[in-house]
Amino acid sequence: MTQEEYKIYIDGVIRRVEEARLKVSPHHIVKIVAVSKYVDSEAIKRLYEIGQRAFGENRVQDLRAKTAELEALPLEWHFIGNLQKNKINNLLDIDPFLFQALDSIELAKELQKRLEKRDMTLDTLLQINSAKEETKHGFMPEIAKEAYLQIQEECPNINLKGVMSIGAHTDEKEIIKQSFETTFKIYEELPNATICSMGMSNDFELAIACGSNMVRLGSIMFNR
Ligand SMILES: *Cc1c(COP(=O)(O)O)cnc(C)c1O
Repeated sequence: MTQEEYKIYIDGVIRRVEEARLKVSPHHIVKIVAVSKYVDSEAIKRLYEIGQRAFGENRVQDLRAKTAELEALPLEWHFIGNLQKNKINNLLDIDPFLFQALDSIELAKELQKRLEKRDMTLDTLLQINSAKEETKHGFMPEIAKEAYLQIQEECPNINLKGVMSIGAHTDEKEIIKQSFETTFKIYEELPNATICSMGMSNDFELAIACGSNMVRLGSIMFNR
């Protein structure tokens, strides 16, 4: 694909997001985070040249390599993957725009300790395992609100901005929808939450219809 063809292709993706959000409300703004975990820095640069600024990675090592390689570009980096305790310092060195996957109280406490030591804060989303899948990380929906409030109370350097969830892993649209509705319901009850991150390449229109205001698009943005 030439760069011109790529731009036309991406315009098509953006149009789909536009149509989905306008069905909710003209005031419902949806942000696209391009998940670049499958591609190299060259591909990120191509998408940047079309106008994309927010990118997401799910491994700290990859995030570190790509932020270094693309240092000259004004990009906004999201960390969307599971964070192991022994990688916290590496993530904080990078100081991402948003950490989307806080998935346990234990991790929150460790993160708070390191943040405090560095005298920094980190914008963060609580990950919710809305479909209650064993293979997924995140808080169970029943305890998510309580955990959110506890972290807000006990971890002042973690700046909670909302929630993130991955839709149910199934082809059944109704089940995926239910998982998004579960996440949105929790989101609505949280004090000062402004970000509801849900929706990926295969289900972003449904996620937006259920209230998502941040979609994490990987394969569809890089045409894979
Ligand atoms: C990989 C990934 C995505 C993007 O997935 P696609 O299906 O390629 O759009 C979104 N969110 C998370 C947490 C991911 O790991």
